[in-house]
Amino acid sequence: MREPSAGEVGQTVPPVPLFDHRRRVELLQGLMADRGVDAMLLAVGADLPYFTGYEAMASERMTMLTVTPDSEPVLFIPALEAPRVEADWLEVVPWGELEDPIALVADRCSGARRLAVGDHTWSAFLVRLQERLPDSQWSTASEITSQLRMIKEPSEIDALRAAASAVDRVLARIPGEIRFAGRSEVDVSRDLAEMTVEEGHETAAFSIVASGENGASPHHEPGNRVISKADLVVCDFGGRYDGYYSDVTRTFVVGEPSPDQVRAHGLVRAANQVGRAKVGPGVECQDVDRAARQVIDDAGYGERFIHRTGHGIGLEVHEHPYIVEGNRLALKPGMAFSVEPGIYLPGEFGIRIEDIVVCGEAGRDDLNEAARDLVVVG
Ligand code: ZN
Ligand code: ZN
Ligand code: ZN
Repeated sequence: MREPSAGEVGQTVPPVPLFDHRRRVELLQGLMADRGVDAMLLAVGADLPYFTGYEAMASERMTMLTVTPDSEPVLFIPALEAPRVEADWLEVVPWGELEDPIALVADRCSGARRLAVGDHTWSAFLVRLQERLPDSQWSTASEITSQLRMIKEPSEIDALRAAASAVDRVLARIPGEIRFAGRSEVDVSRDLAEMTVEEGHETAAFSIVASGENGASPHHEPGNRVISKADLVVCDFGGRYDGYYSDVTRTFVVGEPSPDQVRAHGLVRAANQVGRAKVGPGVECQDVDRAARQVIDDAGYGERFIHRTGHGIGLEVHEHPYIVEGNRLALKPGMAFSVEPGIYLPGEFGIRIEDIVVCGEAGRDDLNEAARDLVVVG
């Protein structure tokens, strides 16, 4: 947490919350009113902590925040979890073990015709709510909440930058500290996860290690394949740092690379560079994808770049905006997302280079600064 800057000697400075959740709720209420949404229901997922600072436990005991355009939000929460809530401005309704939280929330929403519900809400809750509110129309909350969450506040960018710097430090340690040859993907993956935590993350969220032909599967689950000389190894890892995620990918080579590996890696690096260079206010998301893809297409590998160029990042690893063909959303200052082109050759190898960037007032702000060369490891 950052401290407010001290005022004059003797003057007391009231503590400033790092994130102004109340302000976010007000903005949300404004958007709901504009769009004619009568109530929003937020349970597990990142919307709830974004608006309240409280993260619900994912369990069969339902936690749910109800927001309407013109009344104070109410958090329905299992009584035994109520002590976890720190937000004193929030009206909290603890429900006991013999109460039915579905009935409490449905009562609160009676009369609401148009309801938006958090994208990660369990169907176990949603189906029963829909039975109780049969005349309501339902939509996904992200249609509205993403409008706010996509544009990162300065303190959110600080957190994302700290997370990115931490995985950059891990990348810098890899050649000197991690042995690849003769070890399994799982072993290397475990090392990466450990270092991700050592460099300041609360948790390591994922650490993909895809060696040799396994590299051709972008989301390969690290397995028992033993890494050997001449393998390319895709390392895609990240974690949660002050609530915000890192996500970075570099491709390493064990010993000397072949000319084909060098050439394909150079292409992906160029695509990453061109994609990042395209980022700026007013540029459509699909144009960033097109710019990166063009480089790979032109070299004849277009068919082998088998995923979108990137995804937004913040309280979730993948969130809006998506950097993909067909997304005509214009980038705005504060949007944070990955640029991660790749080439995947089944039976041979895969290469991906991923960085997080933020759209700036003009151009872009690179959060990851680690070198993008093909680094030789032992
Ligand atoms: Zn991915
Ligand atoms: Zn990613
Ligand atoms: Zn990644």
